[in-house]
Parts: sequence; structure tokens; C-alpha cells
Amino acid sequence: MFAINDNFTRLTTSYLFSEVANRVRAYTDANPDADIIKMGIGDVTRPLCPAVIDALHRAVDDEASTERFHGYGPEQGYAFLVSKIARHDYRERGIEIYEDEIFISDGAKSDTGNIGDILSIANRVAVTDPVYPVYIDTNIMAGRAGTRLPDGRWSEIEYLPCTAENGFVPSLPVTGTDVIYLCYPNNPTGTVLTKEQLNGWVDYCRRNGALLLFDAAYEAFVRTPGIPRSIYEIEGAREVAIEFRSFSKTAGFTGIRLGYTVVPKSLKGRTADGNVIELNPLWRRRQTTKFNGASYLSQKGAEALYTPEGARQSRETIDYYLENARIMLDGLSEAGYVATGGIDSPYIWIKAPDGMTSWEFFERLLHDYGIVGTPGCGFGPSGEGYLRLTAFNTRDNTIRAMARIGKRK
Ligand code: PLP
Repeated sequence: MFAINDNFTRLTTSYLFSEVANRVRAYTDANPDADIIKMGIGDVTRPLCPAVIDALHRAVDDEASTERFHGYGPEQGYAFLVSKIARHDYRERGIEIYEDEIFISDGAKSDTGNIGDILSIANRVAVTDPVYPVYIDTNIMAGRAGTRLPDGRWSEIEYLPCTAENGFVPSLPVTGTDVIYLCYPNNPTGTVLTKEQLNGWVDYCRRNGALLLFDAAYEAFVRTPGIPRSIYEIEGAREVAIEFRSFSKTAGFTGIRLGYTVVPKSLKGRTADGNVIELNPLWRRRQTTKFNGASYLSQKGAEALYTPEGARQSRETIDYYLENARIMLDGLSEAGYVATGGIDSPYIWIKAPDGMTSWEFFERLLHDYGIVGTPGCGFGPSGEGYLRLTAFNTRDNTIRAMARIGKRK
């Protein structure tokens, strides 16, 4: 009989969100009239902005016309979108990124998960802890993670704890790491890194010949002057970093699906026989072979974000979520909770009070306030004792949730 990829049998069942759903169901079965406010999931609630909707309608009309119909497009994205990304997201901000370094995709989850295709199994990987689980699971699938240890860590992955003690700022790796995943603004802690801190990472990668995989899915939430929105704002990053971007949280494209990845031509890696070659053509080859391009419709929708109206409207949506986050931070702090994030980020990371575990705090929020969060332990061992709330709710729900928390302190 044929053999399977055994690495898949090593994956632990991701029970986090199903366990959250089970517990919420048990609670609502017992309390059918309960008014639950879900602040756990990372999906957006605001509709697409009018500029995108108009562009989508026009794109549908194109597809209805014999002259303007679009079938397969370029695997790496249409020039009309790539050129706007290069100009508005990078060069107008003083960052040197060119059109042939940008690869449009169906989202950052696919790209952060697939990037390992062009990297050797032998690389040693480092992740922050807590972490967006895709980085670890895709390395388990590839056979890079080693074996699962009793505390839930993986033997061949270096974990960089982000805790209250270090202000949720990870230390540089110490075990000869080759590939480092960083996500800033961070999911799940909601923290950001300063230019100086990011300088340290780029410098580390340059000195050690390491690759930095920088997930900037939440860059649009950065409002504090001086906090980098792109890793390429850091000098030398073009030689060491790949950047992943997403239109999901930036513009409500979670259902439409669209993102892009930047692989600079100056980024080089070593082959098994010691030659040094560019990664950009490898990723191009990977994408043209395994990916058939994001839809014309989604790319036309995204193009509208680079018009003055589209930029203003999508910024207003993000402002809406950031205002939710501010309301949450104020409400939580008034109720005596210790929370981080929520300033340049839609995520708020709350310390469970009274020495409670993540799940105990989850239960308390659910039973006492009818609020659903995501237990921090689901993002890694250093997330134990924390809970993540998101600002992606409606304003009304956000205000109601904080009123409940404030009333029963
Ligand atoms: N990266 C991080 C850190 C995320 O939190 C998410 C989604 O929650 C993604 C990537 C996925 O983004 P996309 O919707 O573009 O696949």
C-alpha cells in the first residue's frame, strides 16, 4: 500500500476554536436566553468599502463582456495591481521595492504556509511564543519541527517567549537559527516593535546568514509615528527578509481573499552544494507551478483601495476598529484588568486575574459577562494565563461588552 506523509499524523488536533465553540454551545444550551458577544475570532464585521464594491461591480461587468472578459491571469498578479502596490505601499513611502519583487496571492495564510517549499528541510526555525499557529503547523508538515515535547513545544523549533517580563518583546535566537518568523503588529499579543528593535533582528539575520519571514498582515493598524509598517523600512532588510501582506484586515477581504508577498531580488540563499542564489526566481517558479493566480475580480477590488476615495474609506474602517480597541482598553483598565496591545493593532491581550488559567478566565468571561474570548494557551505555552480579545466587533457590541465588564467588577 502507498505511504502517506507521516508528518501529518504528528500534528496535534487544533482543538482551540472547536473547544471554544463546544463550551459556548454548552453554555447557551443551559442558558438559551443568554446574549453572547463574540470577541474571540479574528474576522472582520464591517462591509467592504464603497470604492471596492463599485470596482467589483465593474469587474463583474467586464467578465460579462466578450471584449473585456478575463480568464487565467498572470500567476504573480495583474500589472495594474502590482504597479500600484509597488508605488503606494512602498516607493511613495521611501522604500525600494520593485514590481517584479511582488507576488499577488489569495492571502497571507497561504503564503506564510507555502514559503517553506523553497527552503531546505534542514533549516532550523524560530518562532515567537505565543504565535500564529500556521508557522509551526506548516513546519511540522514539512518535517522541520522534530518531535512534540510534553509541554507542547517541538524539539527542533526554537521558541522565543514573549511575556510580561520581557514586555512581550522576543529576544534574539541563541541556537543557530536559520529562519525566523516575526509578525508585527503581533497576533495574538497586539504589540509592535520599534525601528530600533527591528534593526536588531535585521542585523542578527545579516550577521548569521538567517532569513526573516516578516508577516505584516496588520500593518495598516499602525498609527504611532515611527513604528515601522514594513520590514523594508529597516536598512539592510532587502538582503534578509521576505514580507507577507494581506488585504483581509486592511480592507475587509477575509471573504474575497487577496494578499501579496515581497521577495526582494537581493535576497539570496545557499544551495546544498554551496552556491549562493536568489530566492525571487524560486518563489516565482513555485507560484507559477502550484498557484494559478488570484481572481481578476479580487484584484480589481483591491486596485480601488489605491484611489484617494478607496484609501480614505479603508482607513476609516480601520479607524473604526481602532476606536473599538481604545474603548476596550479603557473599559478593561477601569475594571482593573491588565491588558496590552490594542493601540496599533486590533488585538488585546489580557492577563487572567487572580492566577487563573486561560481556560478558567475564558469560563469566567463567558459565565459572568456573556463574552467570548480566545484562550491565550491556544497560541503557545507562553500564552497560558492570557486571553485574546479582538476589536473587530460592531461598536454597539464593543460598548455593551465593556459595560458588562465594568458593572460586575
Ligand atoms: N497572518 C496572521 C498573523 C494572521 O493573523 C492572519 C489571519 O488571521 C493571516 C496571516 C491570514 O491572512 P489572510 O486572510 O490574508 O490569509
